[in-house]
Amino acid sequence: MQVCIMKILQIVIVALGLTIIVFAAQRPGGKEKMSYKKLTAEEKRVIVQKGTEPPFSGEYLTNKEPGTYLCKRCGAELYRSDDKFDSHCGWPSFDDEIAGAVKRVPDADRIRTEIICANCGGHLGHVFGGEGLTDKNIRHCVNSISLVFVPADKAATKPMKAYFVGGCFWGVEYWFEKTEGVITARSGYMGGTVEKPTYEQVCSGRTGHAETVEVEYDPMQVSFEQLAKLFFEIHDPTQRDRQGPDIGKQYRSAIFYVDEQQKQIARQLVKQLRKKGFNVVTQLQPAKKFWPAEQYHQNYYEKKDKQPYCHIRTKRF
Ligand SMILES: [Zn+2]
Repeated sequence: MQVCIMKILQIVIVALGLTIIVFAAQRPGGKEKMSYKKLTAEEKRVIVQKGTEPPFSGEYLTNKEPGTYLCKRCGAELYRSDDKFDSHCGWPSFDDEIAGAVKRVPDADRIRTEIICANCGGHLGHVFGGEGLTDKNIRHCVNSISLVFVPADKAATKPMKAYFVGGCFWGVEYWFEKTEGVITARSGYMGGTVEKPTYEQVCSGRTGHAETVEVEYDPMQVSFEQLAKLFFEIHDPTQRDRQGPDIGKQYRSAIFYVDEQQKQIARQLVKQLRKKGFNVVTQLQPAKKFWPAEQYHQNYYEKKDKQPYCHIRTKRF
């Protein structure tokens, strides 16, 4: 009984800590303004002063539970349990990282390669290659103390974003607003060079921006793949630089992906459609800054109580 209460207490404390981290991570203003966790002296010694915890001492060394490992300092997702393996080196070992989450820098010893959190720069450990321990032949040797583990079943879901470009944004927004798992869909502009563009500027076709819909979704309820499939069915991905009566580069077909996973999924779907005979011209590009459109463009069809004129769902998958 005593053990049980202790365990519950431990879970509650971890959950509370994580809620704070996740909350901090989701504050408006993006990653840069995120507040960091206050570190203990030992955490500071490793994470800030690039120290090393004693081997075979870390709390995650033998952890085999499914879940995700976050940066202790900033809460960024770094590693998945699927990539963790037993290297017998005394520290948690991973043979892969979450895309873009870990930065490699030459160590001060000029021999090893240090790994740091790409978001906050916190020290994680070192990365080694060519040891032949796993098929990927990579070993991220990470201090437990630099990490926070979130078991898969307790993971607080963090809303995700996706950006779709398929003609007039009113119609695209209309469809995503109605989709289960979508928290919000916003009309705006992306992909160009002009800061704070106006609708008139974008309409001129000279800003490089496209009418873009920002979709914020709960990945536990709807996947990026489901959203992207919907996207390919509510606009015609074979039309280049136009969508029905709307003509111009601002009405091109594109997906602005936010990470490697979205990019790969989008690529796969384009491949599938091409196999089915659709000459897809959809561009796949990394997301840039999203500029929300003027208020009168938001929820346009809902406000007007009308149906989209050129976004009708056509089954393609
Ligand atoms: Zn970090």
